[in-house]
Amino acid sequence: MHHNFLFDLDQTLLDFHASEYKALGIVLTVNGLPFSDEIYQAFKAYNKSLWLELEKGTITRTELFTRRFEDVFRRCGGETYGLDPLQVNDDFIRTMSVNGVPMKGAPEFLRKLKTGIPDAGIYIASNGATVNAKGRIASTGLDRYIDGIFVSEDMGAAKPSAAFFEFILERIREPRESCIMIGDSLSSDMLGAKNASMASVWFMPEGDVSAAVKEYEIDYCASSFDSLYSILAGWAAARDSGRKAVFTASDACS
Ligand SMILES: [Mg+2]
Repeated sequence: MHHNFLFDLDQTLLDFHASEYKALGIVLTVNGLPFSDEIYQAFKAYNKSLWLELEKGTITRTELFTRRFEDVFRRCGGETYGLDPLQVNDDFIRTMSVNGVPMKGAPEFLRKLKTGIPDAGIYIASNGATVNAKGRIASTGLDRYIDGIFVSEDMGAAKPSAAFFEFILERIREPRESCIMIGDSLSSDMLGAKNASMASVWFMPEGDVSAAVKEYEIDYCASSFDSLYSILAGWAAARDSGRKAVFTASDACS
């Protein structure tokens, strides 16, 4: 019997913001511009507001990519004459895709999961760009523990749609009862698991946890990789013994 663990990528196994920070530092330095925490924080805030505008349809992707670097150039104050914001944006995206940063403890956790749980299938279930996801995973070496990578860009469906999960079940040829979704996002990971009638672990829960657990029908919560491992090992052992997975984890949803 296989136990299939479907992991969200960003802020679950990889630190998206750390990669962004690293990549921004590299591209600005290469172009002779200054880089600091302050510049990164300003970039992050402005970028977020631009993504919201893109979602509302008030700007295009190209405008987003152009404007975020025009803003950085203004803040850097250095010699930016002749620098093309779109070119620097391309360099930034490429640099980020080869500079993955694991969440602290993620490599040890995945190794333990792969070696400690017999018949563990470890999969990535991520929304986003394929090159960025696959490149970052490969650059951390975590791919050695991973059996398959599913990214929405390739699939014609994204979390939280049930279709996203059906696609994965079909590809891995496993029943949904053998799968558990682990992620930090309520709106994509937990809602997606609910839509697909799949077991779920909310990783790094925050806010009104008990209300969210009820609304999204979340099975387990974990605030650390140690706690996550206990939960997943307990879930797998219960399935092996044919029992319903009822056990008390130290960090279960309360
Ligand atoms: Mg995430």
